Amino acid sequence: MAFYKITHNPKYRFATLHNYGCTFRCPVCSYKLRSGEDGKAGHAYPRPEQFLKTDEIKQKLMQVDIETLFFMGGEPTIAPDLPGLLEFASNTLKVRTCLGHTNGSRLPMPNLDGANVGLKAWDEKTHLEYTGREKKLIFDNFKEAHEAGIELKANVVYIPGFVDCDQVESIAAWLAELSPEIPFHIMGYIPVPGQPFQSPTAEQMSDAVKTCRKYLTHVNSSQLSSEQALNLAGRDDRFDVKRIA
Ligand code: SF4
Repeated sequence: MAFYKITHNPKYRFATLHNYGCTFRCPVCSYKLRSGEDGKAGHAYPRPEQFLKTDEIKQKLMQVDIETLFFMGGEPTIAPDLPGLLEFASNTLKVRTCLGHTNGSRLPMPNLDGANVGLKAWDEKTHLEYTGREKKLIFDNFKEAHEAGIELKANVVYIPGFVDCDQVESIAAWLAELSPEIPFHIMGYIPVPGQPFQSPTAEQMSDAVKTCRKYLTHVNSSQLSSEQALNLAGRDDRFDVKRIA
């Protein structure tokens, strides 16, 4: 789809471009929390009234003091002007470029310095059911991006009964073969409307972290309630941003 909003955090000197829409249709997409609808994942919040033109985005970005430009979604790599904006950010603004989150379906990309990739499942059948896409495509892209020198982080949503601890462990073991230094974040599932799954318990989360630390040096976790997920600015001032377009 396209970018519709720019936010700025002057304290941490970053700006974020927000894209609407996604290539996946994950039934457990946390964007559904925003609307409370059991709608199409990735489109689970209202369509913005208007989208930003590429020139307008560039003008706004030239007016702020930043050292990093993040791209978020939905899935930011589906925005058609992303390649040009990455080139502009790298070569004109000379700032670091990072996909604040991505499903990994279009990695690697030129002029991209970093990406935080959501790896959804290890089991191939589960991956297909979860995302509608083959697991191999995403994991191959991750490997290729790592080999291209893009600074990667990975995350997974731990969903008991769907993406269980054994799958989380297998993903950690696979990442460790690339590099045990890749940061790995385990998120406890936040129940979304219309889905049968429950959040993991604190004990399950703790076991998952302990298990993954056998493979990776940097493993952390979070388990938010839906209220907390909808008010991240109240928990972390990196989310305390001002909309500039
Ligand atoms: S890839 Fe992420 S944003 Fe897209 S539908 Fe799945 S969970 Fe939602």
